Amino acid sequence: MTDTEKNSTGVPQTDQLAGGDPTTAFPKVSPPEQHQPEPGLDVRTEPVPDIGLETYRGLGRLEGRRALVTGGDSGIGAAVAIAFAREGADVAIAYLPDEEEDARRVVRAIEEAGRTAVALPGDLMDAEYRTGLVDAAAEGLGGLDILVNNAGKQVIRERLEDLTDEQVDQTFQVNIKSMFTLCRAALRHMGPGSTIINTTSVQAYEPNPMLLDYASTKAAINNFTKGLAQQVAERGIRVNAVAPGPVWTVLQVTAGQPKDKLPVFGQNTPLGRAGQPVEMAPAYVFLASPESSYVSGETLNANGGTPTP
Ligand code: NAD
Ligand code: MG
Repeated sequence: MTDTEKNSTGVPQTDQLAGGDPTTAFPKVSPPEQHQPEPGLDVRTEPVPDIGLETYRGLGRLEGRRALVTGGDSGIGAAVAIAFAREGADVAIAYLPDEEEDARRVVRAIEEAGRTAVALPGDLMDAEYRTGLVDAAAEGLGGLDILVNNAGKQVIRERLEDLTDEQVDQTFQVNIKSMFTLCRAALRHMGPGSTIINTTSVQAYEPNPMLLDYASTKAAINNFTKGLAQQVAERGIRVNAVAPGPVWTVLQVTAGQPKDKLPVFGQNTPLGRAGQPVEMAPAYVFLASPESSYVSGETLNANGGTPTP
């Protein structure tokens, strides 16, 4: 992964398809103990997560498609937004207003790929923003073919007695309840060939006891995905999910993990290291593109080799 090249987008990139040993294809991170208040910024995370700026090469698999990615400013969502643009899609990203610095980086990368970028800051806890978000994306992009539900809230609480109803409400609203609103709105714009991709987690199957609220939303997302997929199949719309394992993002730094666990984050996976956000992007590209035309209601696990049901 050291040779860089220029592709048709003119952006210097390392070829993520060059192959090689998955245990060493990306650095084995051992992040220092650190903290940022929610939602945190990728650009202030140490080491800075790899969202594909130098490492994702597009192959034109989403030429002319129009996508909305929630949480598209950082981490997995940012990697997906950049990959989609380099695959030929116009991309709207949604994110919290405090994340403008991260969002600017992604908007620049989308535009450098020669595609349209639409920035839609706002809080999914705000009903007015939530209700208007998809329409705003469709207006900015001239339609909508792909919705990626990726925004997520993850805050550890050691004991149920420390987990407030307020946090449970927020986690459920951001992680799963918003999917009902955004998918409903998206379906009004979508036709045959459109796709919805939800972000679940290995936590759906192996809940960390400190993540009761978060992990249960991720199980719900799997179930919601399988149900909605059946409902809209006859309309030619596919619905799938990606279930990442431990991926190095700012979410872990803002209270997603105990501080003292950060230096070994992800090292207990069979591949022995945490994933990088860019390594999640090809799963979303596959599920968004016609390459996955016979795949719906599926959860694609990208988790470093941890067995799943
Ligand atoms: P991230 O912090 O970079 O992304 C999460 C994004 O969610 C934020 O950038 C923010 O824009 C958005 N968000 C949070 N609260 C919001 C709110 N109230 N309103 C609007 N947007 C809000 O972290 P990430 O790890 O890239 O997370 C992306 C998704 O991946 C999440 O759904 C997360 O649960 C999932 N996931 C992450 C991991 C991992 O190890 N990093 C593993 C499994 C699943
Ligand atoms: Mg962010």
